[in-house]
Formats: sequence, C-alpha cells, structure tokens
Amino acid sequence: MKMQQLGEFGLIDRIRKMTSVPDPSWVGIGDDCAVIPLSPETGGAPASDLLVSTDMLVEGTHFLMEDISPRQLGWKSAAVNISDIAAMGGKPIATFLSLALPKTLPEQWMQEFMEGYNGISEKYGAALLGGDTTCSPDRICINVTVLGTCPRGKAKLRSAARSGDLVCVTGTLGDSAAGLKLILSGLKGAAPRLMDRHYTPTPRVEEGLALSCLPGVHAMMDISDGVGSDLRHILDESGVGARIDTGKLPISKELQALCSEKGWDPKELALSGGEDYELLFTMDPQETPDIPYTVIGEITANPTVTWEGGSRDYMGYKHF
Ligand code: ADP
Ligand code: MG
Repeated sequence: MKMQQLGEFGLIDRIRKMTSVPDPSWVGIGDDCAVIPLSPETGGAPASDLLVSTDMLVEGTHFLMEDISPRQLGWKSAAVNISDIAAMGGKPIATFLSLALPKTLPEQWMQEFMEGYNGISEKYGAALLGGDTTCSPDRICINVTVLGTCPRGKAKLRSAARSGDLVCVTGTLGDSAAGLKLILSGLKGAAPRLMDRHYTPTPRVEEGLALSCLPGVHAMMDISDGVGSDLRHILDESGVGARIDTGKLPISKELQALCSEKGWDPKELALSGGEDYELLFTMDPQETPDIPYTVIGEITANPTVTWEGGSRDYMGYKHF
C-alpha cells in the first residue's frame, strides 16, 4: 500500500500499534504532546510533568520560498510547536531546532530566520537549547522539538471528552486558510490581517494555561488541520461523538467580507482549512472560563459527527 492510500493518520496508527509507553502514567503517540511524569528518579520534582512535541516544515509542502519571508518562517516554525504545548495547557520552556539547508542558501536568510524564531521564543520563554544542522540536496526542511511543563497529571488530553460536554474554540476560524487561498491566487496584498494569521500564527499559550486550571475543562487540542479533522481526534480518543452547529462557528469580520466578495464559503474554510492554531476544547456546561471563547456544539454518546447547517461531512486538511 502506498502512503496516499494509508494516509497520515493510517501511518501514525501503524507506528502506534508497534510501540508502547513504559508506564500507564506516560502519554505517548496520539496526543499533541507526549507527557512524561517527572520523578526524583528521572531527575525532576515530583509535582510536574514534562511535555514534549515535534513538528516538521518542508519547503514545497508547508511553505514556498517565494511567498514567505525568512523572518515569518522562523516565527512560524517555533509557533506551530509552541502551540502543541498550549494544546495541553502547558508552559513552554525550551526548543531544539534541526535544519536541512541547500548549500546555496545565503547567510542573510539564516540571520533573518533566526530573528523570527527568537522573537517568538523569547515572547513565550522557550529557550533554544540545541538541534542539528545538515545539507539538503535542494529544499529546506525544518524540524523543531519543543519542551514544556505542567502540574503533575494536569495535562489536558484528547481522550478526556465526555458526553454532554460543550465543544468550544478560542478566537476565529478559517482566517489562515483564507490567507493561504489568497497567496495561491496571487492576491497576497488583499487582506493583511488574514495573511498575518497565516504567516505568523499566535499560539494560545495564555488561554491554554487559563483553561488548564479548570477541572470542568476536559479534552483539549490545537487546531492545525481544521476542526473537521481535529475534532475527530478528540472523538476517536474519547470514544464519543459530536453535534456541531455550523451557524455558531466564529468567523472574523475580515473573513466574512472576503468570502462575500469572492463567493467563498466561510464554513468550508473554518472546518476544512488548517493552521488556525486556536484551541479546541470540551467542557462541562457548568464551567465558566474567564477567556474569550465560542461554543460550537456538544459532545454526544453516539460516536458520529453531525454538522448542523453544513453542506457536507467536513474532513479537514489532508496531508497525503
Ligand atoms: P499535531 O497536529 O498536534 O502536531 P500530529 O497529527 O502531527 O499532531 O500527530 C499525532 C500524533 O502522532 C502525535 O502524538 C505525534 O507525536 C504522533 N506521530 C506523528 N508522526 C509520528 C511518527 N512518525 N512516529 C511516531 N509518532 C508520530
Ligand atoms: Mg497539535
């Protein structure tokens, strides 16, 4: 079977079935981060867990050199990783950066890439502690590993959704996908705020930390492939379903205006586009988080998804 038939999640599932965690208190493949309980034996204080995640950006797949500046790419490489720490309700502490670069890449490119990378890393207190550098035959490949911490046993997992929970999101959805659509249509200058959301996403670290303190917040993840895909990870891991009211999706004024002008469907961009890096979480209806968020539906015991007011079964962004 070829990769395009197996798909990204089919392959990950195969790898997952060939592995196991050393102890049931560890979380391995299947969540935004691995969770490693620190203990005096593993060199840590007994009250905290270590969060670890890694993400790769490949030229031609995740970015085009002619479209993104080195500074934006540096920012985005760190941002998408820090977002996985936010997804667990954790605090970022460090990153490792590995680069495969073509021999012809100008030094100035690296200088600007690092300015973007350091800009966001300093903002969230994640120190660059190491990495690896090698030569690539022609395209750039960037891999970042991020480390974070959270109080012992408090990481918000994808597997914790319960029937009756509200399904919620932070921020607005579809802006980044609209930004990408503009780039691909050669209309880069058309909507600066949507372009910014695509090039320099903001990981929702403060929001994740605020939500992590609330016992009524159950499952959480970040939205990298669109709610149509990402919600399914929460549902699969938790063994539940959901009813989503597509009329409640938070759509920004800029996206609404652009969609009216171009005849695009904002629901399609919000559910099937990716890279919003907002948080998707489920919570007890009694819980009242003190951050801006939108309720878009509820978790059901029946393990299927219904998209009320939608035009199809949304699947999110597909990598293969
Ligand atoms: P995210 O979108 O949050 O970065 P992914 O969808 O990339 O998460 O990955 C889902 C899960 O699968 C994560 O727990 C990740 O660590 C794991 N994973 C992805 N690719 C591999 C791989 N090649 N080997 C082992 N685990 C993997
Ligand atoms: Mg994630």
